[in-house]
Amino acid sequence: MDDSLPKIWKPFTVHGKAYTQPIKVTRAQGIWLTLEDGRQIKDLISSWWVNLYGHAHPEVAAAISRQAQELEHVIFAGFTHQPAEDLVDKLLEMNGHHFGHAFFSDNGSTAVEVALKIAYQYWHNTGQTNRRRILTFEGAYHGDTVGAMSAGEPSVFNEPFRDWLIRFDRVPYASTWHDDTGVQDKEDHILRQIERLFTDGGDLFAAILIEPLIQGAGGMNMCRPEFLKRLHTLAAAHDVLVIYDEVMTGFGRTGDWFAWQQAATKPDIICLSKGLTAGFLPMSLTLTTTEVFRAFNHDDANKTLWHGHSYTANPLGCAAACAGLNLLPKSDLQRKSIQRIHEVEMAGLCATFPFLHRWRVRGTIAAVDIKTSERDGYFNRIAAEIKKMAPAYGLLIRPLGQVLYLMPPYCITDDELREAYKDIGRLLEAIKKALY
Ligand SMILES: *Cc1c(COP(=O)(O)O)cnc(C)c1O
Repeated sequence: MDDSLPKIWKPFTVHGKAYTQPIKVTRAQGIWLTLEDGRQIKDLISSWWVNLYGHAHPEVAAAISRQAQELEHVIFAGFTHQPAEDLVDKLLEMNGHHFGHAFFSDNGSTAVEVALKIAYQYWHNTGQTNRRRILTFEGAYHGDTVGAMSAGEPSVFNEPFRDWLIRFDRVPYASTWHDDTGVQDKEDHILRQIERLFTDGGDLFAAILIEPLIQGAGGMNMCRPEFLKRLHTLAAAHDVLVIYDEVMTGFGRTGDWFAWQQAATKPDIICLSKGLTAGFLPMSLTLTTTEVFRAFNHDDANKTLWHGHSYTANPLGCAAACAGLNLLPKSDLQRKSIQRIHEVEMAGLCATFPFLHRWRVRGTIAAVDIKTSERDGYFNRIAAEIKKMAPAYGLLIRPLGQVLYLMPPYCITDDELREAYKDIGRLLEAIKKALY
């Protein structure tokens, strides 16, 4: 044991000379985090996108507390419980009963693994074993387990495992932004590329896996609903299943409750996690249509989805999720307000700072690129610089490379959000002096 080394191995953290002591948080309430030294900062990224209604929401906390005193957990094969049943009923209803079935797992990555396994085995079960390929997108992030990693953009994150990864097909994402004049050409080009893949004479495609409307970790890249609509038309023409990874976009983030509703498209499978439990507990769900489920509804054990986790459908998680879903409709107005303020303030920031460009807003998510002398990408050093400076400006923000983004909890007031943009303006002013 070496006391000079940190005992806790941190996620997504370079443990070298650049390592800095993590900031200790002692309490949280609404958008506010209280730090060990008593300072308070605004959580503008919803703590890695999970917190939807504010920290320590009393209704969610009470629901978990009640549930913990009744039934903390029970094996979910051969047994069930009311919180799981209630959650699935509510969720299927909020999805307009387009999906009929829900499979529980523990986090976004496993929700994606389950979706990939279901899509692949669907064709196995229905006897079309030449449907082996999966279409994914450049810039995608679907999680850190091996299947989810394979579906993500090849990068430093997964480089050591390159020869372990499943080989998926990959095309560009039709990223667009405010005042983008080239978007139509971009979409046409990508869709032609997909059509060529679908007809190239190789194995056929089992499924398309996409982050609908917004690619999160890849840099808050946003595409138009039109792109998704045309993608579906193509998928339908070639009998390819469509999986939406709504781990980040679910539960109101994009404007509607789910991105598939906002884009007016009908995927066969969706993955939900992050905001599912209102930011309290790890849990995820993969929803499928009845058409998909039927292929597994079989006496033959070879057609069973042999998958499960120890904590499947944990009652505390289900209770938190039910309480959270009750809060979602109540956030409709404030989410609209957040979007309007994002649009005004992002346009304002870009007018003030010429080194900002390509602002984009969808629902409660706003993003803008910072022009630097370095290459764009996750390791652009501007990110580390801003991360380090942000707490002094009262902010929790963590740019993805050169992409500065805001994804606040829905409880943020108009005044708090405008104030946050003022804080960001002051931070950018300091950066301008230091860097340009
Ligand atoms: C975060 C994320 C994941 C992975 O979720 P984890 O809970 O971190 O495993 C998958 N897909 C998308 C779109 C995400 O944003």
